[in-house]
Amino acid sequence: MTGRLQGKTAAITGAASGIGLECARILIEEGAEVVLIDRAADRLATLCQDLGPAAKPLVVDLLDGKQVSSMLPKIEALVGPLDIFHANAGAYIGGPAAEGDPDAWDRMLNLNINAAFRSVQAVLPAMIERKTGDIIFTSSVAGVVPVIWEPVYTASKFAVQAFLHATRRQVSQYGIRMGAVLPGPVVTALIDDWPREKMEEALASGSLMQPREVAEAVLFMLTRSRGVVIRDLVILPNSLDL
Ligand code: NAD
Repeated sequence: MTGRLQGKTAAITGAASGIGLECARILIEEGAEVVLIDRAADRLATLCQDLGPAAKPLVVDLLDGKQVSSMLPKIEALVGPLDIFHANAGAYIGGPAAEGDPDAWDRMLNLNINAAFRSVQAVLPAMIERKTGDIIFTSSVAGVVPVIWEPVYTASKFAVQAFLHATRRQVSQYGIRMGAVLPGPVVTALIDDWPREKMEEALASGSLMQPREVAEAVLFMLTRSRGVVIRDLVILPNSLDL
C-alpha cells in the first residue's frame, strides 16, 4: 500500500463486520486513522486491538437517535476533525411484500434509512464549516435495480440514493463530495438468512463477492483528486445478470 490516505481521519458505521470492517482495514493500510462505529462492543474492541493503534472503537447504537446526533464530538475526541464519513451500517430482509413481518421491516428501514440520514446530518455541519469532506454510503445494486425478491430492502436503498443525490447537490458548493458504492451480493453475515438453496446456487455460479472487493472500490472513490466525485459505483460479480 502507498499511504494515499496518510494524515486523513475517517469514521465508518457498521464497522465490526463485513464490508465496514474491510473498509476500515483498507483505509488504515493507506495511512488513515479510523473510528470504527458499531453497537457490537466486544467484537469492536477485539477487532481494533488486531487492527492496531490507528483503529479507534466507538460503540453507538445507530437506532438510538440521541446517540447518533451526539457522536461527532466523540469521533473528534478520538481522531480530530473528520475528513471521511462512511454511512455503511445496514440490515437485510428479503421475501415478498405480501409475507413480510412489518416490525422487522421497521427495524430495517430505521437502520438503512433513518440512521444513515441522521448520521450524515451529525457530521455535515463540521464538514461544511471546514469546506471539505468525503461522505460515502454503502447502498446496494438494489438501490438502482428493483430486485423482486427483496422489495422493502430495495425501497430502503432507493431512499439512500435519493437522499444522496439531493444532498450532494446541496453540499458540493462547500467542497464536500458524496458518493455511494452499490454492491451486488457480498459474502458477509448480512446474507446469513438467505435460503440455503439460494446461497448454494449463488456460490456455485460465482455470483458472490468478497468484502475486500467493495473496500477497494471505496478506496478508489476516496483517492480521486478532489475535483472529481464518483457518485455511484456499482460493483457486481461478472456472472450476475440483473
Ligand atoms: P454485516 O451484517 O456483516 O455488518 C453490519 C454491521 O452493522 C454489523 O457489525 C452490525 O453489528 C452493525 N449494526 C447493525 N445494527 C446496528 C445498530 N443499530 N447500531 C450500530 N451498528 C449496527 O453486513 P454487511 O454485508 O457488511 O453490510 C454493510 C452494508 O452493505 C449494508 O448497508 C448493506 O445493506 C450493504 N450491502 C450488503 C450486501 C451484501 O450482500 N452483504 C450487498 C449490497 C449492500
